[in-house]
Amino acid sequence: MLALQEVYVDPSLEASPVVRRIRQGLNHLPWHARADLDHVIQEVISYRADPCGAGKKILLIRPFPGRLVKACPGTTGHICCGYKTINVVTNCPMDCSYCILQGYLNNPCLTLYPDFAKVFGEIEGILERHPHRVFRFGTGELGDSLALDGVVGFAEEAVPFFAAKNNAILELKTKSAEVDHLLALDHKGKTVISWSLNPQQVIEQEEHLAASLDERLAAARRCSDAGYPIGFHFDPLIYYAGWEQDYRGVVDLLFEHINPRRVMWVSLGGLRFPPALKQVAQGRFPCSRIFSGELIPGEDGKLRYIKPVRVQMYQRMVEWLQAYDEGLFIYLCMERGDVWHEVFGNTPVSTVGLNRRFEQRVTSFLEDVR
Ligand code: SF4
Repeated sequence: MLALQEVYVDPSLEASPVVRRIRQGLNHLPWHARADLDHVIQEVISYRADPCGAGKKILLIRPFPGRLVKACPGTTGHICCGYKTINVVTNCPMDCSYCILQGYLNNPCLTLYPDFAKVFGEIEGILERHPHRVFRFGTGELGDSLALDGVVGFAEEAVPFFAAKNNAILELKTKSAEVDHLLALDHKGKTVISWSLNPQQVIEQEEHLAASLDERLAAARRCSDAGYPIGFHFDPLIYYAGWEQDYRGVVDLLFEHINPRRVMWVSLGGLRFPPALKQVAQGRFPCSRIFSGELIPGEDGKLRYIKPVRVQMYQRMVEWLQAYDEGLFIYLCMERGDVWHEVFGNTPVSTVGLNRRFEQRVTSFLEDVR
């Protein structure tokens, strides 16, 4: 499994069926039962030259006392999409130069919280409290949804769980091509599998250990053929000399593989990151070119391209995407109302407004494909 080298498990979880199954899949690696997993984390932070890189090779399996399903934190002054995040795995075995997880230095290790029954109980509670709303849940906020899932097995339980729900949809967001274990699942169209896309040149320079563009699109095609709704995220969009030709090429390639009618949504988001990330990432990826553009702090303190650059990138992307299907559902990730207005001529006004658009989109898409 990519570069994974060892596994540490809290002894209280060793007998859990989820952990026993994972152990079968990773029985070629050394397993250690350790009650003091914070100690393992501290050792990585204090004694490894590159704690972020070292943490990606270590899997911790531990209990989590708090809630595992949360509202996406969004960002101050920007319209958020109202997503609910499922945090069964944190961190990621891939290694993108711009990844904000590099800034979360309190635990650089891959970490699995294997109490799936608790996750499903929390989701049931949310759905029962709001039976007239339509919710979107996803596992790709603090890591990649599928990079480890062939071993972890969360999707195998989650996809049938969501298939039986009338007011919820699951999104599995990835830069991997690990989809074989999903193809035969009974999803009933209630799971969207989505890929973050970038030009192959950006993938090679900035998205280390991730699948190539061709591999991602081939995996998307297989999932589409298996009946899954598909999503795409052009996030982060990276600005550089020649970006227009490259991104247009990605859009063209995408629709060579995928029928636009199978696409649930496409998001656009310009490169953004907390200032503290820059130093960590530049130290780890000195050849990266993503920090060379003009970036200024937004209301939330994150560095972003200046507004005219963001608007230009979004307008061109929307134009190229809509040339294939005017009805594509395209949204901006973490952008201000004035930027929405310049790109689309309208704005959802608020997170609540964008959420309503998503509810309508999910409902009508599922009716259309039935
Ligand atoms: S795939 Fe996502 S979570 Fe993984 S390193 Fe890249 S940006 Fe971070």
